[in-house]
Amino acid sequence: MTGLWFVCGRCGLEKTLRLAHALQNQNPDKVKVVVVYIGQPDAEFYQFWNSFGDLIFLRDPQLTVFERLNALYMPRLYLIAPDGTLRYLSPLAGHNWQSERWQEELERIRRLLGGGVNIVGGRGMTLIELLIVIAVIIVLAGLTYIAVMQARRRGHLAACISNLRQLTLAIHAYENDWGMVPIEYYHKTSEGEFGRVEQIIYPYVRDDAIFVCPADPYQGLSDIRGGRVTWKGKKWKMSYSYFTNELTVKMYNVTHPFPDMVLFYCKWHKIIDLIARYDGRIEIAPSGRYRSIGIVTEP
Ligand SMILES: [Zn+2]
Repeated sequence: MTGLWFVCGRCGLEKTLRLAHALQNQNPDKVKVVVVYIGQPDAEFYQFWNSFGDLIFLRDPQLTVFERLNALYMPRLYLIAPDGTLRYLSPLAGHNWQSERWQEELERIRRLLGGGVNIVGGRGMTLIELLIVIAVIIVLAGLTYIAVMQARRRGHLAACISNLRQLTLAIHAYENDWGMVPIEYYHKTSEGEFGRVEQIIYPYVRDDAIFVCPADPYQGLSDIRGGRVTWKGKKWKMSYSYFTNELTVKMYNVTHPFPDMVLFYCKWHKIIDLIARYDGRIEIAPSGRYRSIGIVTEP
């Protein structure tokens, strides 16, 4: 079992390291703590290296480990089984945790494991089982890391905003012609499935790339609604959520749009969502804010 313990390098780090240190000292033959520093180490890192001499310190200056682990959702604690399955994911994320919070989190896990309950799928484990094999990896992310990631994602952001602008224009063009905004009505036809917004407004866009956010790891082919549609021999790609369908029309009468109405949103930028409103505004909001709200005028 491997524990991946993401902590912020700027938030009460010394206390958190003491916690890890204590965990290792209490279970010297069972727990191995490995500290991985993300980005270029600074003087503080070497200071910790000196004062916690019996912890193992590693560096990840190229951010290779970190990128894969999607660690922007830090601080967080994951437990991963040897076969790669996720066994535990701390439910709270996104705030600066002080060491008291981490202490509570470790206690919670102990209780879960002690009860022998299932963690995330799979069979339950006892605490003893866990401790025999656990290695705690503490990832310290400093500002360097954040800056690098921001630079990498900035290109994605610009392209996505451009897509959202063009999609909004396409909605307006459609509305000019038909007197209403497109309404998703998914149904089978002799040529395949039809009714998604990307199919309806395609004549106004005529470029598949505009439907795909560069930050989308599935490149438009993932869909929680059950897979992308095939129509006229083509698999239709779409990275963006669109809110106007039969149900929302009934609820909000959105065929008569209002300026604040949310047309599209993109959830692929990790810690932020992008929102395109009817009046052309593109907004950035914290991730998850718009996910299940649908048509909204206010966050
Ligand atoms: Zn995007």
